[in-house]
Amino acid sequence: MQITKVCCQGCGANLEVDESIRFVTCNYCHARLEVVHDTSTTHTKLLEELDQRTESMAREIKVLKLENELERLDREWESVRQSKMIHSKNGSVSEPDSASATGAGIMVIVLGVGWMIFAASVGAGPSPIFGLLFIGGGIYVMISGNAKASEFQSLRSRYQMRRGKLISEIQREKLVSR
Ligand SMILES: [Zn+2]
Repeated sequence: MQITKVCCQGCGANLEVDESIRFVTCNYCHARLEVVHDTSTTHTKLLEELDQRTESMAREIKVLKLENELERLDREWESVRQSKMIHSKNGSVSEPDSASATGAGIMVIVLGVGWMIFAASVGAGPSPIFGLLFIGGGIYVMISGNAKASEFQSLRSRYQMRRGKLISEIQREKLVSR
């Protein structure tokens, strides 16, 4: 057994350690130390500092990963959003919403009803049946438009929930590492 004298990095006390032992705990200050044998000196290193460095590095990597995930989530949502957009005939693009779907449906239904009244008042000539087609079409526009709008809303709220979770996780990690 070869005994070496080393100095504790925590409190400066002189310690005697077996040369074959790499990790020791100081009896005076209870610091956990690593015994390092260099070519010309033998010294001790505080292990807690090492632990802290490793921990803060791991945390930084975790924050980076979370931020990447956030970016990916935003990109994914943007492509989903684009695929669900309503392209109208006049070239305008808008998110599906139930109010405009209902409005468009009602407009077509009113047209159909108007046609039926007109056809009935004229008597023989234009068939009032075409009005029914318009009314049916209007109801379809209303129902399918509302279904699209509610699907869009639920997709968006799921995206916003996941986004909020990621942001609060990132903030928590940043707070701890400060
Ligand atoms: Zn010590």
